[in-house]
Amino acid sequence: MKKRLFTPGPTPIPEEVSLALAQPIIHHRNPEFIEIFSRVNENLKYLFQTKQDVYTLTSSGTGAMEAAVANLLSSGDKAIFVNGGKFGERWGEICRAYGVEAIEIKIEWGRAVTPEEIETELKRNPDVKAVFLTHSETSTGVFTDVKEIAKIVSENSNAVTVVDGITSVGAHELYMDEWGLDVVITGSQKGLMIPPGLSFIALSERAWEMVERSNLPKYYFSLKKAKKALQNGDTPWTPGIALIVALDVALKMIREEGLENIWIRHEKLSLAVREGCKALGLRLFGHPPSHAVTAVYFPDGIDRKEFQKVLKYKYGITVAGGQEHLKDKIFRISHLGYYDELDIVGVISALEMALKDVGYEGFNPGDGVRAVQRVFAEFEGVVEKRNEDDEFPNCCH
Ligand SMILES: *Cc1c(COP(=O)(O)O)cnc(C)c1O
Repeated sequence: MKKRLFTPGPTPIPEEVSLALAQPIIHHRNPEFIEIFSRVNENLKYLFQTKQDVYTLTSSGTGAMEAAVANLLSSGDKAIFVNGGKFGERWGEICRAYGVEAIEIKIEWGRAVTPEEIETELKRNPDVKAVFLTHSETSTGVFTDVKEIAKIVSENSNAVTVVDGITSVGAHELYMDEWGLDVVITGSQKGLMIPPGLSFIALSERAWEMVERSNLPKYYFSLKKAKKALQNGDTPWTPGIALIVALDVALKMIREEGLENIWIRHEKLSLAVREGCKALGLRLFGHPPSHAVTAVYFPDGIDRKEFQKVLKYKYGITVAGGQEHLKDKIFRISHLGYYDELDIVGVISALEMALKDVGYEGFNPGDGVRAVQRVFAEFEGVVEKRNEDDEFPNCCH
C-alpha cells in the first residue's frame, strides 16, 4: 500500500528533494554551501515578491511568529490579533507571553475577519503598533483578504501589518511589497515541499525601524543578529544545512513552474476538491475557502473514527482532523504544495470508497470523481487567460 499525505503540514516531498536530503552533509562555511544559501535567498525574495531579504530561521513556523512579536514590539505595546482559528489565536498567545497588550478580535471559527472589523478596532485603539493576521487559517480552511486589510491598516494607523503566510505562501497570490505587507512569514513543511525545520521571515523598511526600537527579550531569534550575519551571506547560528540544500532544489522547481502557475494550480485543485466533496453530498466548512486546505463536515450517521481508520489503513490516505471544538465535527484535506490533478482524483476516489465502507449512502460511486474531472476540463480556459494577461511581475530574476 502506498502512503499518501493530505495534511496541511507536513506535506509530501518531491523525489528530487528527497535525493538532495540523502547527500552527505556539507559544512556551512564551505563555498559550496555559501553559493547554495545565496541562491536560496534570491529565490525566497521571488517567492515573497519582495526586494527585502528573507531570513531563514532554523525552527518550525511558530519560531518565525515568535521572532516577529519579539523583534517588532516593546513592552506595553498594543497589538491587534484575530482569533478566527487556532493559528490566529496563537498570535495572541505569543503576544501575551511577551507582555504585549493583545487586543482580540474574536470571530466565529469558519469565517474571515472583514476589513471593516479591523477598521473599527483600529479606530477604538489608535495607538496599536501591529496588526497580526493569518492569510490562510489552516485550522478552518478559511482565506483572509490581507491585501485589502493592509490598505485599511495603513489608512487608519501607523501600525505594521504582519501576515502569517504559512499556508498561503506558494498557494495564494501574495505580493509582499506591492500590497504593503510589513512582515510576511512562512514555514518549510507547507507550500515549500521540504520537511519541517525551517521558517522564513521578511520585513519592510518600516518594520526594521521598529526592530531598532524594540526592547522585548530575544536571543536565538534576534533579527538584528540575523541581519548582521546575512550581510556576510551567513547565519548567526548553525543553520539547518540539509534542509537548506533541499530547499534550493524545491525553490528551483518553484521557479521553473512559475509562481503564477503555482497559484493557479492551487486554485484549480482546491476547487476540484470542493466540487468533489459537494458531489458526494458532503457539506463544506468555512468561507471563503483557502486554496491550501479544504475543511469538510463529517456526514451525519457515520462512525467518524472508523471512517478515518479505513481511509488511513485500507487506502493509505492521511487527512487531518479538526482542532479544538471542531475536533469531531470536521476533517481537513490538504492540497498544498506537491500535488497534481491525479492526486485529487485519487483522494476523492478514496473518500468515496471509505464512505461506502462505513455505510454512507449519500451518492453513487463515481459522482465525486466525475465532478473533479469536470472542474479540470472546464478550468483550462481560465489558466490561459491569466497567462495572457501577464499581470505577474517577477521582481527578482
Ligand atoms: C502550520 C502552521 C503554523 C505553524 O506551525 P509549526 O507547527 O510551528 O510549523 C502557523 N500558522 C499556520 C497558518 C500554519 O498552518
